[in-house]
Amino acid sequence: MPELPEVETIKREVLPFVLGQTIKSVEIKDPRNIKGISAEQFKKKLVGQKIVGLERKAKYLLFKLASLNYLVIHLGMTGRLLFAPDPYVKVVFHLSGTKSLYFSDARLFGKIRFFNSEPKLDLGPEPLTKSFSLSFFKKILAKRSTPIKVLLLDQKLLSGVGNIYANEALFRAGIDPRRQAKSLNDKEVEKLHKAIEDVLAEAIKYRGTSDSWYVDAEGKKGSFQLRLKVYRRAGEPCVKCKTKIKKIVVGGRGTYFCPKCQK
Ligand SMILES: [Zn+2]
Repeated sequence: MPELPEVETIKREVLPFVLGQTIKSVEIKDPRNIKGISAEQFKKKLVGQKIVGLERKAKYLLFKLASLNYLVIHLGMTGRLLFAPDPYVKVVFHLSGTKSLYFSDARLFGKIRFFNSEPKLDLGPEPLTKSFSLSFFKKILAKRSTPIKVLLLDQKLLSGVGNIYANEALFRAGIDPRRQAKSLNDKEVEKLHKAIEDVLAEAIKYRGTSDSWYVDAEGKKGSFQLRLKVYRRAGEPCVKCKTKIKKIVVGGRGTYFCPKCQK
């Protein structure tokens, strides 16, 4: 599923082609991703609107319109935002510029919403921003007995870290994903804080992880999957110690770790 680095890659790609463009028409092939209002209303609200900004918050793409209305897209599991159609296109935004935007979603977990004003998303601070300081991270871990991996995925506490990068960050920090958050000592918290920032920054650099569905707006795969150390590597040797990577379930999610390197 697209996580922070993948959505950031798409944002950077799409931004120059949408900024200052007007939505000429909206073609709805399947209305099921559009939430909150009918397909007809959705069209009416958007056609003629000028896009004046595009930002990413956690895994959301927020298109700011000149009217100060917002178009918000969450790609869910298999959502894509493309410059050319694929077989799963649900909504097409025809723009005044050179490119149209095709929203595709094979499994329909993606969500498209219209807001009259800037949406209040219930999200915690996100890594790679000033608000994700070491002292903030220490504060949210202290007193919580939740397994550390479950805590990392709690978007209300900390936003933008998904399953792939939670697994990878815990490996880098040498921390067992099942440990209670509060059991981490200062040094471990510091290591994990750095590991989260490093893994996300690197994944952006490599244009995201194309695990199964993800492709960028040009339809190209990212390459961070080639650099994963534990995620989806169950049974393969650890890159550090050659112990077999183990897969377990923590908080309902597939969790990969090295039983020797992660304490
Ligand atoms: Zn190992």
